[in-house]
Amino acid sequence: MSSSIKSRFPYTLGCIILCLTVFISCGQISKTAIIKGVYGNPKPFWDKEIKLQDLGVNAIFVHSGAINNNMIKGARAEGLSVYAEFATLNGKNYVETHPEAWAIDENGERVEAASWFMGVCPTEPGFRQYRFDQLRDLLSTYDLDGIWMDYVHWHAQFEDPEPILPETCFCDHCLNSFSKDSGIEIPDGTTPQKADWILTNQDEEWRKWRCKVIYDWSYEMKNIIKEIKPEALLGLYHCPWNDNEFDGARYRILGLDYDLLKETIDVFSPMVYHERMERDPNWVKENIEWFSNRLNIKKDAYPKVWPIVQAHNSPGTVSKEEFELVLKGGLSGKSSGVMMFTTSAVAEDEGKTEVMKKVYADLE
Ligand SMILES: [Zn+2]
Repeated sequence: MSSSIKSRFPYTLGCIILCLTVFISCGQISKTAIIKGVYGNPKPFWDKEIKLQDLGVNAIFVHSGAINNNMIKGARAEGLSVYAEFATLNGKNYVETHPEAWAIDENGERVEAASWFMGVCPTEPGFRQYRFDQLRDLLSTYDLDGIWMDYVHWHAQFEDPEPILPETCFCDHCLNSFSKDSGIEIPDGTTPQKADWILTNQDEEWRKWRCKVIYDWSYEMKNIIKEIKPEALLGLYHCPWNDNEFDGARYRILGLDYDLLKETIDVFSPMVYHERMERDPNWVKENIEWFSNRLNIKKDAYPKVWPIVQAHNSPGTVSKEEFELVLKGGLSGKSSGVMMFTTSAVAEDEGKTEVMKKVYADLE
């Protein structure tokens, strides 16, 4: 529940109604509860006849495409909150049939997939409508406690040890929008000439504008949530780099400006995948402490931070000892919750299941 939602109600009856609504909708989880989450379909545990509540879990985060009424019913029966991961700017299976939404690089060429990720042009009107309609459908169909946006950045790949950080998007929509929004006139020329002119002469304004485009997505999503399911939270899975890593690429290339995003995001979920990014497990704790300070996070106010840590073995192997370290690291700083990638990685490994149960029990 954000402060802006609360402010719309007079502080009497409206507040009582809102509190009741939240209580009914969110099951047993109160606003101040520590989130003991899992990311992924709960089925691997249910197949073993293990209840998630018996492991201390109180929230599941599930890809929107995997959600169905039976899953929600099963989760509610265990008092779990249900949050839907929502793939936002992933253009795979879209740009192939809608080439107008293909992101364009500084050479005027359609971008290639960045390892497995194919970003879409975030200003293309048809794509925007398509995603916003999908969100409306999702919120209208299922009783959800929140939407967790995923893939919210310009075309790039930040999950690999050697990230892919191209300059995009120089399609006509983006060039026109940039010019209109900033009041900067781009000299006539070919797309590569325009891209070169912008990067040479208006680099700062260009980066700033790109961050606003990403922020605008969160703003629109938040408005749809307010309209259809006002008590639901808006979360963000995001690149965990600090302000300086890769020459400031989180802001410069991905377009993530925390100072803007904290206006709309209720919960940040930094994707601190230590093994995948080939980092020391202790980095998770350091990163969450840095992030908590950077955004001045407070445990009992929004925005909150609920990191997602790595339990999954491929690439690399995450031992149960390492998993314990990163799970605790995810709860450091001003974190008020944690989850891991993935539910099945924990369910298939008894050692990791025991670690999760122990760490979550210690939070009681
Ligand atoms: Zn574009």
